[in-house]
Amino acid sequence: MLKAKNLSPQKLAAFTAFILSVVMALGCLVIGATLKETLIAFGLTFLVAYFLYLYTLQNFIYRKIKLIYKFIYQTKASKREEFFNKNILPLKTIEEVSEDVEKWAFQKREELENLRRNEAFRKEFLLNLSHELKTPIFAVQGYIHTLLDGAIDDPQVNKTFLKNATKNIDRLCRLIDDLDEISKLESGEMTINKEQFVIQDLIRDVFDTLSIKAKQKDIKFSIKKGCEAPIMVNADKEKIRQVLINLIENSVKYGKQEGQTIASVYNMDGKRALVEISDTGIGMAEEHLPRVFERFYRTDRARSRDIGGTGLGLAIVKHIVEAHDQTINVRSKVEVGSTFGFTLELGREIYL
Ligand code: ADP
Repeated sequence: MLKAKNLSPQKLAAFTAFILSVVMALGCLVIGATLKETLIAFGLTFLVAYFLYLYTLQNFIYRKIKLIYKFIYQTKASKREEFFNKNILPLKTIEEVSEDVEKWAFQKREELENLRRNEAFRKEFLLNLSHELKTPIFAVQGYIHTLLDGAIDDPQVNKTFLKNATKNIDRLCRLIDDLDEISKLESGEMTINKEQFVIQDLIRDVFDTLSIKAKQKDIKFSIKKGCEAPIMVNADKEKIRQVLINLIENSVKYGKQEGQTIASVYNMDGKRALVEISDTGIGMAEEHLPRVFERFYRTDRARSRDIGGTGLGLAIVKHIVEAHDQTINVRSKVEVGSTFGFTLELGREIYL
C-alpha cells in the first residue's frame, strides 16, 4: 500500500492515473467493450492522466515550492540552485519539503535567539564599560579641580590629591591594557604559538615576579609537595604566563594576611596536564562561581576596585585557556579559599 505521506509527484501522478484507468476500464467492460478495447482504454487513460497530473503538479505546486526554496536558500550559488531545482527538488516528497522548511525555521529561530543574546551582551558590556571608565575619570577630574581651586597651596592635602589622581590614572591604564588584550583575543587576532616548556619553571618565574606583592601581605608561595617532578607542556608560554600572573595575583589580592598560595600540577590522562592555583583567601559563595569568568563580573565591586582590579582578569584567563582548546574551572568556599584549575596539552616526556 502506498503511504500517502511519502508520495513523490511521480508516484502521486501514477497512483491517481491508475485509479482513473481502472474506473475507465470498468466503465468500458460495463458498456460491453471487448477485452482488447478495455486494455487500450486502460493504457491510454493511464498515460494521458499520468502526464497531465505530473505536468500540473510540477508546474503549479512545485513552482510554488521552488519559490519557497529560493526564499529559504537565499545564499545558495546559482549553479547549485539550478541543479537542485532541476534534479533534486522534483524527487522530493511534500513531506520532505515540509521537513526542510521546518529545519530552516528552526535554524532561523536559533539565529535570532543568538542575535538577541549578543545584542543584550553588547548592551551590558557597553554599560559596564562606561561605568568602569566613568569612575576613575570623575575621580581624577575631582582631584584636579579641587587642586586648581586652591588645594594646590595646601601642603597638607596637595600631595595626597595628586597621588590619588595618579592612582586613578594607573587604573585607567590597566583597564585599557586589559580591554586591548581582550579585544585582541576575541577578534582572533592573537595567534597561539606553542612551544614545549616545563610548567613548574614558569610557575616559579611568576612566583618571583609577584613576590613583592605577596610579601606585603605575608603570603607564602609554594608548589605542592609531590608535584615538583617536572611536567613538560605544549602551549604558548607567554600567554600561559599571563594566565598564571592573573590567577596568582588574584590569590594575593583576595588572599588573607599570612595566607598561602599553592600551585599543583598533575598528569591527568597521559594527554593533558592539570594546573591548579589554590589560596587560603576570602573565597566566593557558590552562586558567583558560574559567573566569575564574565567580563566585569565581581563578587564585591568595591573591594575589587579598592585593590585595583579591572574585572577583566579572569575573562582574559578563560579566553587564553580556551584558545588552547583547554578548559578552566573554579572551586571555592567563603572564608576557606579558592582553587582555579586549568588544563594544558602535555608535551613530550622528559627524563632527568
Ligand atoms: P578583578 O580585577 O576584579 O580581580 P577578575 O576577573 O580577576 O577581576 O576576577 C573577577 C572577580 O572574581 C573578582 O572581582 C573577585 O570577586 C573574584 N575572584 C577572583 N579570584 C579570586 C580569588 N582567588 N579569591 C576570591 N575571589 C576571587
